[in-house]
Amino acid sequence: MAKHEHVRVAVIGSGFGGLGAAVRLRREGITDFVVLERADSVGGTWRDNSYPGCACDVPSHLYSFSFAPNPDWPRTFSGQRHIRAYLEHVTDTFGIRPHLRLGHEVRKMTWDSEALRWEIETGQGSFSADVVVSATGPLSDPKIPDIEGLAEFPGKVFHSARWDHDYDLTGKRVAMIGTGASAIQIVPAIQPRVGKLTLFQRTPPWVMRRMDRAISGPERWLHRALPVTGTLRRGLLWGIRELQVGAFTKHPNELGLVEKLAKANIAKSIKDPVLRAKLTPSYRIGCKRILLSSTYYPAVAQPNVDVVAAGLREVRGSTLVAADGTETEVDAIIFGTGFHVTDMPIAERVVGAEGKTLAETWKGGMEALRGATAAGFPNFMTVIGPNTGLGNSSMILMIESQLNYMADYLRQLDVLGGRAALAVRPSAVGAWNRKVQARMERTVWKAGGCESWYLDSNGRNTTLWPGTTGEFRRETRQVDLSEYEVVRAPKPVKPAAAKTRAATRKQEAAQ
Ligand SMILES: Cc1cc2nc3c(=O)[nH]c(=O)nc-3n(C[C@H](O)[C@H](O)[C@H](O)COP(=O)(O)OP(=O)(O)OC[C@H]3O[C@@H](n4cnc5c(N)ncnc54)[C@H](O)[C@@H]3O)c2cc1C
Repeated sequence: MAKHEHVRVAVIGSGFGGLGAAVRLRREGITDFVVLERADSVGGTWRDNSYPGCACDVPSHLYSFSFAPNPDWPRTFSGQRHIRAYLEHVTDTFGIRPHLRLGHEVRKMTWDSEALRWEIETGQGSFSADVVVSATGPLSDPKIPDIEGLAEFPGKVFHSARWDHDYDLTGKRVAMIGTGASAIQIVPAIQPRVGKLTLFQRTPPWVMRRMDRAISGPERWLHRALPVTGTLRRGLLWGIRELQVGAFTKHPNELGLVEKLAKANIAKSIKDPVLRAKLTPSYRIGCKRILLSSTYYPAVAQPNVDVVAAGLREVRGSTLVAADGTETEVDAIIFGTGFHVTDMPIAERVVGAEGKTLAETWKGGMEALRGATAAGFPNFMTVIGPNTGLGNSSMILMIESQLNYMADYLRQLDVLGGRAALAVRPSAVGAWNRKVQARMERTVWKAGGCESWYLDSNGRNTTLWPGTTGEFRRETRQVDLSEYEVVRAPKPVKPAAAKTRAATRKQEAAQ
């Protein structure tokens, strides 16, 4: 018989968001919860992205949980292996393992308006939960564009987030499709090994130098012996990034100076004027994510690298045809083409109070109050939901803010007592979203003259937060009950009353 388990809270996903939620639940004294994860280990982003050169681009002392400082980060920007190990360590330290249900992909979730709970179908049995916390990640489902002829390509094809470590790139003719955050880490890591690397670039990114270095033994010792030094380091990294926010959100012209530095960075490594022109963006810096690498341009300048300044249009056998007609024969294609961000696959699988999926509700664009709760989906919240992304700082700050909100939401449910649910008022979601979108108009992401994955198919930025992380922390400190409707379970019918009603119905039928 298929197994069924009822829990108070079901968390979906075990990346930074899901693990953070699990730790927070335990800290709130809640142990009746599960973490449903489709993969066979924790780590999310840092489990799935194992490509050569994969590392964070926000310094490690800030890109980690405030409640689990790590004095032993090996580098200022640590690599995937260390970040993944850190998440495994957090899982053990905070006793999360017994709550994990690995290999449990959530296939469908339906709100039961009578029982006031979520019915969850997974690949291995079903669950029900009073509250669902969805932390399925904005960058967890790889996107490969629909390219004519790709299915017939005779060589190797994979996405950067699903790296095939069994395939040896040595001496091969390789095409890298895309020049985003992953591609600029992959290119310098594989360029010395491959025979020929062709980079298909639709739009060049702005790339700044990355001040990456090993963290010395004495520094690590100091952070271990005097933890406050680690806190100060984190505080400094945070403060610098908070001060930059105004330029992105209100005064994009202030980014002109940064643009000059980025241009100098190109000039330093790229001597060929034709290549330099190809690699120089024509939009305001910051409009797309500013990428950090000190090795990307030097690698691109090597004789075994070609830049095709046009997207991939078609695949004919082993020949790749770019939008400008350029033809290149290759042995392998690596897609660094990003993820399903504004069309999160989980949204197709969540069916709310009105029988509509979250994807249908978000057809006109994703929106959720404080990035957490969507109208029509009681007792359901997202971690890193709509408009909670950052262009310049650590997502862990935003995750922890959303966990504060989650904790208060559960406290409010406790206070309400009995069988109750909180359903966010559509007017509250609308008001929040109008405020966020109005602020978006002045940002560099909207006004900077680029197209990016921050924008949805309607051209709306439904991914980024147009303020400081401090402001978001204040906005998510507490649940404001006036923004919610309290839903009570329908009263169970008393047996005596039920008998009388049945008798009346019988009498009416006889007449
Ligand atoms: C290569 C790369 C580098 C990055 N570097 C940085 C950085 O330096 N700084 C920064 O701030 N951010 C960075 N990010 C963004 C990063 O995604 C976030 O910082 C953070 O890791 C997201 O955590 P998450 O838990 O929300 O999502 P994820 O880490 O993506 O975890 C989501 C989890 O949900 C699971 N899941 C999804 N769907 C289902 C389902 N239906 N059923 C069950 N389980 C499911 C997935 O398997 C996954 O384990 C980077 C992203 C990438 C891809």
